[in-house]
Amino acid sequence: MSGEKPVKLLDEKGIRTDGRKPNELRPLKIQVGLLKNADGSAYIELGRNKIIVAVYGPREAHPRHVVIPDRAIVRCRYHMAPFSVDERKSPGFSRREIELSKVIREALEPAIFIEEFPRTAIDIFIEVLEADGGTRTASITAASVALADAGIPLKDLVAATAIGKINGQLVIDLNGLEDQYGEGDMPIAMMPSLGQITLLQADGRFSGEEFEEGLKMAINAIKKIYRIQKEALKKRYLEISKEVLESE
Ligand code: UDP
Repeated sequence: MSGEKPVKLLDEKGIRTDGRKPNELRPLKIQVGLLKNADGSAYIELGRNKIIVAVYGPREAHPRHVVIPDRAIVRCRYHMAPFSVDERKSPGFSRREIELSKVIREALEPAIFIEEFPRTAIDIFIEVLEADGGTRTASITAASVALADAGIPLKDLVAATAIGKINGQLVIDLNGLEDQYGEGDMPIAMMPSLGQITLLQADGRFSGEEFEEGLKMAINAIKKIYRIQKEALKKRYLEISKEVLESE
């Protein structure tokens, strides 16, 4: 968030640089189970973001000293490919990626019945292939679907989006340009049918009223994302049932 405004983010009609209205999500597509070697997987496209998530587990935890006797440990690795951003990123892990790995894990863990799998590990690998703002929230949305695809019992799916402020106007689902030049960014994740928020961050300034209004907008958008997550999972279950029937 630079604070400068060299770019006009809203036109006279209140339309954003990518043609969206303030409360409009970017086009969202989720595909489930496309990686053969993972226990669960999901691919998400949200506008120009392209992210793939692989899940392994619950499996025996290694190294042994990480084992927790009465629950599973959840590990998460968020990584951006060098070619995922305009200016080539170094292939190693930056501080940002280490921090986002933790933030994403903390948003997902409350949804997992970790007590049912003592002494095991659940590993979530996130590879950002193309990034355009909102990769942490898109990663959370995709990772919870990948966890479900791995057959891991969940209290609910976790769906996420961000509220932002551009030219004093609240908007949903910031793109890269809006994230860079806007006045605020508030990523939110929740378990929609339980009404529980598992992530809430804020960068920039929001008044109390803006916060409340933003939260309402986020919850609406999260409900839409949740429907798309469930549709993607249903589609995958139908494919699996068809494969099983055909192999009999
Ligand atoms: N970004 C970039 N290079 C980097 C890191 C981030 O160009 O090394 C871009 C990328 O488009 C990303 C955006 O900046 O989506 C916003 O990054 P932020 O840290 O706010 O996380 P995000 O919004 O992706 O969750």
